[in-house]
Amino acid sequence: MFNSLISKALEFKAEDTLIISPKTIITAEWVRLKCQYGCPKYSKCLTCPPYSPHPEQTKSMLLGYDKALLIHSKECKVIQNVVRNIEEEAFKAGFYKAFAMGAGPCELCEECDVNKPCVHPYLARPSMEACGIDVYASVRNNGFFIETVSENQRKVNYFGLVLIE
Ligand code: SF4
Repeated sequence: MFNSLISKALEFKAEDTLIISPKTIITAEWVRLKCQYGCPKYSKCLTCPPYSPHPEQTKSMLLGYDKALLIHSKECKVIQNVVRNIEEEAFKAGFYKAFAMGAGPCELCEECDVNKPCVHPYLARPSMEACGIDVYASVRNNGFFIETVSENQRKVNYFGLVLIE
């Protein structure tokens, strides 16, 4: 089953996909501060802080899973699309707990109205970082390359995670 999810992820244009242990995923309190002090989308998107799960919640949620697909792409939109589709595929295959986290703020609507319920609840998923995951440490734990980039650098590596059990 995992092999077919990996093939599906590649069909949806992921560059690499790896089955990993959720124990390698690191959460940290400072991640939320980086959203609060540094991201213009803070409090402007329902999938981002302060609306998204707190690092402590994510940490205990990760304990409820024994596998995850870690997905890599050079494009943020590809990650958002892949993770929601893989979550759906996994759910249909019987993994009813499947839950996806992508990268970056949700871009499904031109503007996110945080005063109303989400208009695409089946599609919108929080990013790994919005859930308090230290993406750098987590992906390096699994052998992926990631470095900080300056604003005008184009070569960014994006990652998404689909928890499965
Ligand atoms: S789907 Fe629309 S309303 Fe829902 S989180 Fe994304 S941008 Fe906001």
